[in-house]
Amino acid sequence: PRLVDDEEGGVLFLSASASSSSSSRFGYASVEKQRQRLPVYKYRTAILYLVETHATTIIVGETGSGKTTQIPQYLKEAGWADGGRLIACTQPRRLAVQAVAARVAEEMGVKLGEEVGYTIRFEDLMNPGTTMIKFLTDGVLLREMMDDPLLTKYSVIMVDEAHERSISTDILLGLLKKIQRRRSDLRLIISSATIEAKSMSTFFQIRRRSLEAAESGPRMEPAILSVEGRGFNVQIHFVEEPVQDYIRSTVSTVLSIHDQEPMGDILVFLTGQDDIDASIQLLNEEAQSNGKNSSGLIVLPLYSGLPRAEQELIFSPTPRGKRKVVISTNIAETSLTLEGIVYVVDSGFSKQRFYNPISDIENLVVAPISKASARQRAGRAGRVRPGKCYRLYTEEYFVNEMSAEGIPEMQRSNLVSCVIQLKALGIDNILGFDWPASPSPEAMIRALEILYSLGVLDDDAKLTSPAGFQVAEIPLEPMVSKMIISSSELGCSEEIITIAATLSVQSIWVPGRGVKKDMDEAKLRFAASEGDHVTFLNVYKGFLQSGKSSQWCHKNYLNYQAMKKVIEIREQLRRITQRLGIVLKSCERDMQVVRKAVTAGFFANACRLEAFTHNGMYKTVRGSQEVYIHPSSVLFRVNPKWIIYHSLVSTDRQYMRNVISIDPSWLMEAAPHFYQHHRHNATAH
Ligand code: ADP
Ligand code: MG
Repeated sequence: PRLVDDEEGGVLFLSASASSSSSSRFGYASVEKQRQRLPVYKYRTAILYLVETHATTIIVGETGSGKTTQIPQYLKEAGWADGGRLIACTQPRRLAVQAVAARVAEEMGVKLGEEVGYTIRFEDLMNPGTTMIKFLTDGVLLREMMDDPLLTKYSVIMVDEAHERSISTDILLGLLKKIQRRRSDLRLIISSATIEAKSMSTFFQIRRRSLEAAESGPRMEPAILSVEGRGFNVQIHFVEEPVQDYIRSTVSTVLSIHDQEPMGDILVFLTGQDDIDASIQLLNEEAQSNGKNSSGLIVLPLYSGLPRAEQELIFSPTPRGKRKVVISTNIAETSLTLEGIVYVVDSGFSKQRFYNPISDIENLVVAPISKASARQRAGRAGRVRPGKCYRLYTEEYFVNEMSAEGIPEMQRSNLVSCVIQLKALGIDNILGFDWPASPSPEAMIRALEILYSLGVLDDDAKLTSPAGFQVAEIPLEPMVSKMIISSSELGCSEEIITIAATLSVQSIWVPGRGVKKDMDEAKLRFAASEGDHVTFLNVYKGFLQSGKSSQWCHKNYLNYQAMKKVIEIREQLRRITQRLGIVLKSCERDMQVVRKAVTAGFFANACRLEAFTHNGMYKTVRGSQEVYIHPSSVLFRVNPKWIIYHSLVSTDRQYMRNVISIDPSWLMEAAPHFYQHHRHNATAH
């Protein structure tokens, strides 16, 4: 393949004759040249020196400067992977792990899964004999500590995207700091796009204590290195008046850019798969009905559940004469670099997790981003040449109302998973743990209380045996794991692992395709009166009977990729549960035991219908919060008196996704401690 220089930006684009197959996309020499052009290349020697001489190196550099793809390769070239050792690079997002690993394998000219591999939950593509660089989510690395507390196979661990402050990143940083005291040979790199490098550095100040005497070890105070980027100027446009509907505004902004601005790709930031799909549909409709010129537009979605094949389209160069529009969640904010972006459209929102320990409610909310995020998003437009960013909010709002920084996820999450993981790693004093950002004591107490009610912790707040250890071992939320373990006693584990696998994928239904009525009818074919969980069992059975046919999925408005994933995850859960000594058994037609098993895990999410309001309002038994069944549920408008939900999403109201009807007497059976103060609630009616 031949690479040609683009006259405008001096950036490499593929010539039309180049092969598009990924392994032959680049000749070896051109890859080397490309690598040397990245800003981080000038710092190669400095980085290697700092890593050699310091236990912790903090590297700050703007998105696209080459941190993620280059530094692990430098380390490998310098011998950090010799002698069977591994270089790890963590990412908060699964899609970023896959995309970056694929890119690095391509740059090194090796097959993914050999020298370069990756591991995400339920997917392991590496070879213990040959892998030298391993990309993984921070959550997976935490899990690896359960088998290998000192992470002895790794020589260097690069905790990437640290500015995201995901809950797993924060737990990992706290634990790595502990490991460093025991392993003077381990090196940490903490890298990010914008970091309060100072506070990270303070966090990693380690007094050497016993290591103090050793002369040969690395220096313990962290080194800080800042990579100078060479971003181009980005012109910012604000709207004059607040926008009513950011999806409509997005679409009209994209079409007017296409109409009036010179060539260059557009990156749009929306919040999730649902509004991304909605905007793509609207974009197509608008373009057709108003006769607006949309020829030459290639519109692509980008969100975490995207299948691998579609990911490749995102990264492949835009054909000449075309304009790519990538409509993304905030995954494109810093985790992934897209070449050729000149215009950014920023909705000003992202989907964020919020938890209120008083009401004990956690949900995903579409919420305003911070100024720091807004700047990151704008920066994506200036990678290849001067660009433009269109913000769908007013300047007044940006200046006066947007918060400067986001809140670490640790401080806005339910801590149930976090607590059980630390317990499983033998960290008993959780309140006294050395956190990069302390979680609230209320949230911590709530988590301990639920884990106690789940039978996972005992009176001394230690893991129970075997239930507590089993729950910790299964790589799912503790409530799902508990449901699986209970299903073993109830004789419905075959059914429950199918349900657990289905709940692990984003959605098995195809969103927004075709007529809503047809889709609802398709759903009705599988709908079970007990609720969504039992409906999943019908879908799974149908899929198996169809011979796992993609046509069958298409006809029934089911997402074939998601169904294949369900089968894969189910198989993994089958292996994990067998290893834990859980006997797999089917309850055949007895759905009562299935509902009891769900109750055993999710009793804390029980709700009762407020019959007198006649509008489908429920209240949570525990916190008396108003909630409603989500329209996507098979129980929408059916409104059984007592239900349990799997998760909440919040828009104008709090909506319960995936619900199942229960008998309230099961709550007392499943969690007497949890419900004893609420007895009058649970037995009223
Ligand atoms: P950082 O981690 O500093 O944000 P990366 O290492 O992710 O930067 O990216 C460095 C460069 O590598 C990008 O500017 C881009 O040119 C290139 N790159 C990264 N990932 C891909 C990919 N999947 N396909 C094509 N080019 C990529
Ligand atoms: Mg990166």
